[in-house]
Amino acid sequence: MYMRTSQLDLELRRPFTISRGTQHYARNLQVELHHDGRTGIGEAGPDSSGYYGETRETMQAALDEFSLVLGDDPMFIEDTLAALDRRFHHGNSAAKSGVDMALYDLVGKSLGIPVYRLFGLNPAATPVSSFTISIDSPKEMARQAAAARYPILKIKLGTARDIEIVAEIRAVSQAILRVDANAAWSPKEAINIIDALMPYGIELVEQPVAAEDLDGLMLVRKHSQVPIIADESCCTAADIPKVASCVDGINIKLAKCGGLRNAVKMIHVARAHHLKIMLGCMVSSSLAVTAAAHLSPLVDFADLDGPLLLQNDPFEGVSFQEGRILLPNKPGLGVRPREEPGKDESSTTIGEVSTRGA
Ligand code: MG
Repeated sequence: MYMRTSQLDLELRRPFTISRGTQHYARNLQVELHHDGRTGIGEAGPDSSGYYGETRETMQAALDEFSLVLGDDPMFIEDTLAALDRRFHHGNSAAKSGVDMALYDLVGKSLGIPVYRLFGLNPAATPVSSFTISIDSPKEMARQAAAARYPILKIKLGTARDIEIVAEIRAVSQAILRVDANAAWSPKEAINIIDALMPYGIELVEQPVAAEDLDGLMLVRKHSQVPIIADESCCTAADIPKVASCVDGINIKLAKCGGLRNAVKMIHVARAHHLKIMLGCMVSSSLAVTAAAHLSPLVDFADLDGPLLLQNDPFEGVSFQEGRILLPNKPGLGVRPREEPGKDESSTTIGEVSTRGA
């Protein structure tokens, strides 16, 4: 088995702003695993702000290391992925997730079955995904919320005008609203803001306070009438016992935990701690998001809108029907290059996007 990597430059439809900053594009890597005439593909896509310590350069360096320990039989999934975990005990999770996805794709193709079947999952049990409204003026966010054709919206907060934002959005949208502060609030602010948001009908709150402030999370949860979900505070299975008494649920992302295998581990550990589970994504193409979607029958909440935010998604795989996740039923991940005139390459260029204003 051998690996090839190539650059995957994704351009966003509009600048994507959260409390930590603005993203115009994602610099991801495509991972290919070749064996016996078949190719499995995966996507390594970190948090673009470098929040979890990964960049395209660190991922490429890790993948070069991983290529040395792949083994010769893709069916030995545990052996291969455990070897990656041994190579790097901590971190490099987005790089690992690219290999993990490619391996499951390869095994599914070898067996002629979709990845969800490898995990014994029912494709009819997928949840409805939220669609994210990123930070802008309250008026613009409300305009986007009104235009969005999704029954669940995730509203990015962590601004000076959070309550005004939700009020404006609620005035034009009957959607289920989830809010995500991306660690921007102090515990006291969080308690006050969440309380003030109650009249607008909020389903849950994601990562209200700083990732390491577990006491703060616990305090906010104690005062909140709606579930609190940890995202930045919970990356791997080892984090779950630490956050379990502080929150109602966790947001699992393949790029945080290292791929499908580790995500399944997290799901079982989280269930043992009676936690709700959200399945999320970084800004990534239909390749990484389809991989995550194969596990969506196991979770309570899905936030898998990555491809919907892109100008140039090079792949097709998972699709959405009024937000409901529809899994491809082809072998492996069921992802293939998007057929579009003039888009014959799997990677496209960033171009002038970075010069656009936010
Ligand atoms: Mg989040």
